[in-house]
Amino acid sequence: MNHLDRFRMFPFVPEAIRRLNEAGVRVVVVTNQSGAARGYFPELLVQEVHERLRRELAERGARLDALYCCPHGSAARCACRKPKPGMLHPAAEELGLDIQRSFVVGDRYADMELAFNGGARAILVKTGYGLGELAWHAQEWPRQPDCVTENLESAVDWILRENQ
Ligand SMILES: [Zn+2]
Repeated sequence: MNHLDRFRMFPFVPEAIRRLNEAGVRVVVVTNQSGAARGYFPELLVQEVHERLRRELAERGARLDALYCCPHGSAARCACRKPKPGMLHPAAEELGLDIQRSFVVGDRYADMELAFNGGARAILVKTGYGLGELAWHAQEWPRQPDCVTENLESAVDWILRENQ
């Protein structure tokens, strides 16, 4: 994403997050934004997108408990860039989360690796890059996701069932 106009949220996302909020499940966004490090777009834009995400969720009664962003490029060899689990630890500490009982939902295999590296359960959604990842790369994966599902809505169904 290199312009704020590209930012789109699937229409089912706020409702899915609201269901997690109401169930008392903490919702944390963990994102790599190395575009900022590479100079494609200013860090200010990253903040604008995050603000807009929060605002659009708030308008539909949903909220994030936290948002963590790795702004580094892969050359920086930082500890926070996904799939390294560096962003999960502050999330766990600040929110009192048990990572073993947490779920990572994502559309890239790097998100699944983040879950494996941190000890969380890995849920792959077919939206975004998910279908392509499954079609072209799933056979090479050393470990498969714990759950493969249509979108965030069905991922939340799975989380709420598992979380009981
Ligand atoms: Zn980083």
